[in-house]
Order: sequence, then C-alpha cells, then structure tokens
Amino acid sequence: MCINIKQLRDGSLREKQFEFTVDISDVEPTVSSPVTVSGEIVNRADVLLLSMTVEGMRDLICDRCAKEFSRKTSVRFESCIVDHLDNEEDEDDFIVCEGDELELSELAVSMFILGFDSKNLCTEDCKGLCQVCGANLNEQACNCKVESIDPRLEILAQLLDD
Ligand SMILES: [Zn+2]
Ligand SMILES: [Zn+2]
Repeated sequence: MCINIKQLRDGSLREKQFEFTVDISDVEPTVSSPVTVSGEIVNRADVLLLSMTVEGMRDLICDRCAKEFSRKTSVRFESCIVDHLDNEEDEDDFIVCEGDELELSELAVSMFILGFDSKNLCTEDCKGLCQVCGANLNEQACNCKVESIDPRLEILAQLLDD
C-alpha cells in the first residue's frame, strides 16, 4: 500500500487518513487472517507525523499449558516522516521517504511483529501443567508432590545454612 505524501509535504493538504488490510500469513504463521492497518499522516508545522494502528487475530499456543487460543493483537505506532536524515539522527527514530510515495505495508508488518508479547499465556494466571503427571492444572488438581524449590533458591539456602 503506497500513500502519496506530496500534498502533505507542500502543505496543500493537512492530513490524510488511510485504512487497508495485509495478508501476512506467509511471514507470520500465527496470523491466519489479514491484519487491518489504519491511521493518518498529519502535517504539523511542516513536520509529517505518521500514526498507525495494526490489528489482527493471532492463533497461539499457551507457553504454560499448551492450550490453543486466539487473541486480538493491536500495535500502535508513531513516527516522523523525513525526506533525508541528518548525520546525527538515528534512522530508527524516523521513516525516510525520499520520493512522493510512502510504502506502508512493510513498515506496518514489521512494527506489528515487533510489538508481539514475548510470552503467550492463555490467561494471566494460567497454572500450567503438572511437571509430574502432565495434568492441566487449570482444569483439575492432581495429587503429585512437586519439589518446587528453584535450584537457584536451593543454592541460596545452602549458603545461608553455612
Ligand atoms: Zn495456559
Ligand atoms: Zn500431577
């Protein structure tokens, strides 16, 4: 998806809204249906500001109990659009667009993927699986005795004993 920003740059247009969908199932298999990208580019005192939201459903597997679940993921992103970078500027802080056409799909996809949570839990307080019998502790309690001392704490306990 390309947006022409010529009129925004010369000031004849103050803002431009956009909305489109991208299919990213090839790059990100957890996202099976197209994601929606929406937002606007605003000329504020001759600085072009892009704000955009990328939203989609992800099919995930819980890191603790291995249950499959779907979750809506929404990533919001803002940046300035410049036609070139000055020497001291960091390119991560800006979107560089030399011509009149700004390509948004790739940017949206990479920002979306970067915004994913590092942990995927079916619920915040998922109890996970029993380490002994494998029971899903969200659904049933089991009678296993789990030696749940963290090895690091054990070392600490030994140190304290000495
Ligand atoms: Zn879970
Ligand atoms: Zn158990």
